[in-house]
Amino acid sequence: MTLVVQKFGGSSVADVERIRNVAKIIIREKNQGHQVVVVVSAMGKTTDSLISLAKQICPFPSEREMDMLVSTGEQVSVSLLAMALHAEGVDAVSFTGAQVGIKTDSFHTKARILEIKGENIFKALKKNNVVIIAGFQGIDANNNITTLGRGGSDTTAVAIAAAIKADVCDIYTDVDGVFTADPRIVPEAFKLPTITYDEMLELAAAGAKVMHGRSIEFAKKYHVIVQVRSSFEPDKIGTFIQEEGENMENPVITGITSNKNEAKISILGVPDKPGIAAQIFTMLANNNLNIDVIIQNASEQGMTDISCTIPREDLRKGISTSEKIVRELGARGFSYDEKIAKISIIGVGMKSNCGVAAVMFKAMADNKINIRMISTSEIKVSIVIDLEQADTAVRALHKAFRLNEPTMREKPVSCAKKKKAKKK
Ligand code: ASP
Ligand code: MG
Repeated sequence: MTLVVQKFGGSSVADVERIRNVAKIIIREKNQGHQVVVVVSAMGKTTDSLISLAKQICPFPSEREMDMLVSTGEQVSVSLLAMALHAEGVDAVSFTGAQVGIKTDSFHTKARILEIKGENIFKALKKNNVVIIAGFQGIDANNNITTLGRGGSDTTAVAIAAAIKADVCDIYTDVDGVFTADPRIVPEAFKLPTITYDEMLELAAAGAKVMHGRSIEFAKKYHVIVQVRSSFEPDKIGTFIQEEGENMENPVITGITSNKNEAKISILGVPDKPGIAAQIFTMLANNNLNIDVIIQNASEQGMTDISCTIPREDLRKGISTSEKIVRELGARGFSYDEKIAKISIIGVGMKSNCGVAAVMFKAMADNKINIRMISTSEIKVSIVIDLEQADTAVRALHKAFRLNEPTMREKPVSCAKKKKAKKK
């Protein structure tokens, strides 16, 4: 029997009608003789509304209480979905994260899953239930409710799929799959049949909002086959996220993405000597600041500037930490800039192709876009530019890498893989 995990995002359960639609998708899967475990996000913009309520009470609410608050969103949607299945005569039972033993660390609002005790899931499946689990939440060693960061239901779904050894994890969302770029910015962007775990990881880290980054880490580590697909058109095949196939002809660039949610901070005039960077980044890390792009300027008279980007929502923390760094290291000062965007090009084909960065930089030059920071990995080049030029940059790059000519990929290897999984 095939064990399927299905995840439905907030837009897929935004109202009663859509919840009924989700129930139909689940029933169809179940009627094919599969066992179904479902992970659900909060309805529509519920999480945003809860956060905004909190901010009206207090501008910087306690993170523990935030988790207490926002985790309620998913409790609403799982129970309603169970009722929708009952209404169709299908047995279903809903659980919170804690009830299915999703243990996390204690970093409130961005907790990480440490282990999942799946017994309750298997018990309920044995009784022929559809098992519905609240996404995004867990419980720490002291029984505090935690959440996994915005968009964290994807991570719940993939982690559950790994824990119960599901055959496939279908991520139902409001788009048809993973695109070469955001179709709202680049209308001629197209849906990729497959993408590798590594590319998807880089895409997520680079700001593509399709899936929560941690979820891909889980998928890669535990070899979970993930399909991103539309809950509005459930008959359409989506994008498979999988291992790099041998017969996959890799285009140089698979996708382009922009991240408009980062801010830059610079520590100015620090002594250029061994150990300084270590001290700066240790202090940033101790304040749980997630660093992205880093540059160090050429040193002048034994002094240098070190800049990095952090999530914009953490800027306040970044500023207070910078004040401390300046004090403790005797730096000249610090500055920050919120009006930046990070543009990234991603593709495993980059490994075996030269001149990728050159094409990227030329496209920027042709559009009079100034590059302020650069970082690279084996399969990614990211640049930081002015926020207002972000969309122009993405369109220029889509064109420069000829992504609107979808000719390079072989047939998706994944379809065969999925079929194999289903035959088990
Ligand atoms: N409801 C949570 C959020 O909006 C988790 C999720 O949707 O994945 O971030
Ligand atoms: Mg989501």
